[in-house]
Amino acid sequence: ILLKVKALSISFYNNETEADILKNISFRILENSITAIVGESGSGKSITSLSVMGLLPAKISRIKSGSIQFNGTELVGLSEETYQSLRGNEIAMIFQEPMSSLNPSMRCGKQVEEILRRHTNLSQNEIKAQVLELFDKVKLPESNRIYNAYPHQISGGQKQRVMIAMAIACKPKLLIADEPTTALDVTVQKDILDLLKSIQKETKMSILFISHDLSVVSEFAENVIVMYNGEIVEKGNTKKVFKSP
Ligand code: ADP
Ligand code: ADP
Repeated sequence: ILLKVKALSISFYNNETEADILKNISFRILENSITAIVGESGSGKSITSLSVMGLLPAKISRIKSGSIQFNGTELVGLSEETYQSLRGNEIAMIFQEPMSSLNPSMRCGKQVEEILRRHTNLSQNEIKAQVLELFDKVKLPESNRIYNAYPHQISGGQKQRVMIAMAIACKPKLLIADEPTTALDVTVQKDILDLLKSIQKETKMSILFISHDLSVVSEFAENVIVMYNGEIVEKGNTKKVFKSP
């Protein structure tokens, strides 16, 4: 078991009131698997993934109880320093909007290099070679052109591929993909999902895929977690869950 979330409850508060956002959720993610979280807007999908990433807004949220075990390590209460070395390294995340992760004023190649520099001690030449290799892996043709381009000089689908290259640069064990294709054209969506699937097969990392699109989920994920109003209402093999009345 790669990730084991157990009886996790999270609340958000302002001065006067505290609201339960996640209510006693439990689920597991196996190694080498694809699991989707589905549910309508506001059901708690993003909060669940942010809690695994250690990125909950600290001032207004509180983990009330429960545990999050990643690869045998308890993440609840982990220091920010330890979390930082885990993030991008063992757990990576991609978002709906690639520009939320890309720096508009930095060449794409340099942004990926930055990650490798932070987490490895390879030489500059080795790092650059790895970045070009990664661009091939995410099927970005003309990897030299992309390397030198600023984000606004490439398409939305290409930006998403650069983001995926950044996410997989350090060979994470878990990739959290929060609506990674929602902002893209339908044809590009399919390409990106196919790419994620083939990378998953090759690297054997696990993917936690967040989506509101049930047809995409049933095609992409073998396991599904259905959330409603901060609770898990169903979970299991995707075919079985979607068949149940
Ligand atoms: P339809 O509205 O197309 O008839 P259903 O309402 O039966 O479809 O739901 C289809 C799928 O969506 C089911 O697998 C169900 O578990 C899931 N689902 C239904 N309502 C919600 C909800 N509020 N949040 C998350 N998933 C839901
Ligand atoms: P989803 O990803 O399924 O759309 P979220 O996990 O983003 O849902 O949100 C779950 C609940 O948490 C929602 O009711 C939302 O209103 C609340 N919420 C999310 N972010 C905040 C925030 N920064 N402050 C207060 N409430 C929030």
